[in-house]
Amino acid sequence: MDCIFCKIIAGEIPSFKVYEDENVLAFLDIAPVNPGHTLVVPKKHYENMEEILEAELCKLTVVIKKIGKAVKDSLGAEGYNITENNGPVAGQIVPHLHFHVIPRRQDDGLKLWPQEKYGEGEAEEIVKKIKNGI
Ligand code: 5GP
Ligand code: ZN
Repeated sequence: MDCIFCKIIAGEIPSFKVYEDENVLAFLDIAPVNPGHTLVVPKKHYENMEEILEAELCKLTVVIKKIGKAVKDSLGAEGYNITENNGPVAGQIVPHLHFHVIPRRQDDGLKLWPQEKYGEGEAEEIVKKIKNGI
C-alpha cells in the first residue's frame, strides 16, 4: 500500500521514533509546529476515526496520554494540544489515522481557530440533528 506512515512503521522510511509497542508507534512530525511535536499512529492502517476499531482506539489513546505527559514534562512545556484532522476538509493530508501531540508554551505565538455565536434556536436544532446521528 502506498501509505507514507505504513512505510515509516515498516522501517522503509526513517523517522525519529519516541515510542513503540505492538500496536502503536509515536514519532516526531517532520515539520513541527513546536519542537517535540509528535505523531501517534496505530500500526494497522486505518484511514480515519470512523474506520478504527474501538479496541484499537483505546490502545492508541493510552499512548497519546503517555506522550502528552512526556512532551510536557521532559521538554519544559506548560501544556499541549492533542489534535486529529479527520478528512481532507479538516486538514488531513496523510490518510493514515494519526494524532498530533503538540507541546505548548505561553509565549509560542500559536493561535487556535476563531469562534462564533449560535443564532436564536440554532443550537437546539443542531443538538437534535447530532443526537439523531449517534
Ligand atoms: P495531517 O495534516 O494529515 O493531520 O498531518 C500530517 C502530518 O504528517 C504533517 O504535520 C506532516 O508534517 C507530517 N508528515 C508528512 N510526511 C511525513 C514524513 O515523511 N515523516 C514525518 N515524520 N512526518 C511527516
Ligand atoms: Zn498506512
